[in-house]
Amino acid sequence: MRKENEKRVVILGGGVAGSLVAKSLQFHAHVTLVDPKEYFEISWAGLRAMVEPSFAERTVINHRDYFTKGDLVTSSAVNVTETEVLTADGHQIAYDYLVIATGHADPVPKLRGERLQQYKEENEKIKSARSILIVGGGPTGVELAGEIAVDFPEKKITLVHKGPRLLEFIGAKAADKTLKWLKSKKVEVKLEQAVDLNSTIDGNRKIYKTSVGETIEADCHFLCTGKPIASAWLKESVLKNDLDVQGRIMVDENLRVKGRSNIFAIGDITDIAELKQGFLAQKQAGVVAKNTRLMMEGSKECWRETYKPHPAMALVSLGRYDAVAQFPFLTISGRIPGFIKSGDLFVGKTRKQMGLNPHIV
Ligand SMILES: Cc1cc2nc3c(=O)[nH]c(=O)nc-3n(C[C@H](O)[C@H](O)[C@H](O)COP(=O)(O)OP(=O)(O)OC[C@H]3O[C@@H](n4cnc5c(N)ncnc54)[C@H](O)[C@@H]3O)c2cc1C
Repeated sequence: MRKENEKRVVILGGGVAGSLVAKSLQFHAHVTLVDPKEYFEISWAGLRAMVEPSFAERTVINHRDYFTKGDLVTSSAVNVTETEVLTADGHQIAYDYLVIATGHADPVPKLRGERLQQYKEENEKIKSARSILIVGGGPTGVELAGEIAVDFPEKKITLVHKGPRLLEFIGAKAADKTLKWLKSKKVEVKLEQAVDLNSTIDGNRKIYKTSVGETIEADCHFLCTGKPIASAWLKESVLKNDLDVQGRIMVDENLRVKGRSNIFAIGDITDIAELKQGFLAQKQAGVVAKNTRLMMEGSKECWRETYKPHPAMALVSLGRYDAVAQFPFLTISGRIPGFIKSGDLFVGKTRKQMGLNPHIV
C-alpha cells in the first residue's frame, strides 16, 4: 500500500540497470517495477548456463528475492504519457519519477522455472550434437563457442560471422587474439559469410549453405546475432522525439531524458557515447537512484550527480579459464583476464550487489 504523499517511482525493465534501481529505491518511495518476466537474469552468464545448467540457479533471480517492498507488474510497457505508463496487460501506472531501462528485446520465458528448464534443454541439444553451428561472431557467439570448445572439446564447432572480423564492438587487436584462441581450440571460423538457416537433410546430416556457396554440416545451430534495442514501444509515445536514429533514448548528464525533469533512462537503451556494458549500466543505476532521492528531498539542481561516458573497456570470456580484455591502452588475452571474469562471470559480485548471498540460492 502506498503511504499518503509518498512519491511514485516507476521503473521499466528489470534487467541489470532497472533491477538495481528498484532494489535501491524500494524503501525510499513507492516503487513499481514493470518487467515481462518474474525474474532478473545476469544476462552475460547465460552462455555458461547452456553448458552447465545448474549455473543458472544463481544467475536467474526472482525479482521478489531482492525487491521485497514495492509493486511488481509482470508485463511489458507499451506506451508512456506525461503522467503514466500503460502496460500490455492493461495496467495504467501513474508516476512522479520514471526510469526507463528496457535494454534489449529478448523473448525469454515468464517464469524462473521455465527459464531454468530452457537451459537444461539447450544443454541437451549441445550434448547430443556431434557438430554445432554458431551464427554470429559478436560477444554472444564468441562466448558460446568458447564455452562449448572448453567443456566439450570433442564437438566440431563452426562459427560463421557476416562481418570482416569477430567482436566488431571492440578493437581489431582483441578480435585477432580471439580468432587465434578459437583456432587453437579447433573452432572453424568463417568470416564475411551469412548462413541460410533453412538447412537441408542429407541422410541423417543437416547441411547449411552460406552466402558464398560453402556448405556446413552440423547437427544443430545456435543463432547468436545481436538483439534489437527495446525502444520500439516508445515510437508512438510522448518520448518519440527523444530517440536518436538508432532508437536510443537521448539523455543529459544527470541521465534524464533530454528536456524532461522527471524521466530518466539508463543502461543499453541510452545514447551515452560508450560501450554498452552491464557494469556501466549498474553505475548509471547508482546515479539515478541518488538523483531521484535528491529530487524527492527537494535538493538543489547543482547537487545532482552527473555521469560521464567511460573509455572503451571490455572483457570477453573464452571458456572457463581464458578471456580477452580490452583496456584503454592495452589488449591482452589468456589466463590473466580469464582470472578476472571467466571463473564466476561476476555472478557472486552481482548477487552481492543485489543484497543476496553470492554463493548459494
Ligand atoms: C555475451 C555478452 C557478454 C557480456 N559480458 C559482459 C560483461 O562481462 N560485463 C558487463 O558489464 N557487461 C557485459 N555484457 C553487456 C551487458 O549484458 C549489458 O550491457 C546489460 O545487460 C545492459 O543492461 P540493461 O539493464 O540496460 O538491459 P537488459 O539487461 O537488456 O535488461 C532489459 C530489461 O528490460 C525488459 N524489457 C524489455 N522491454 C520491455 C518493455 N517494453 N517493458 C518492460 N520491460 C521491458 C527486459 O525483459 C529486461 O529485463 C555482455 C553482453 C553480452 C551479450
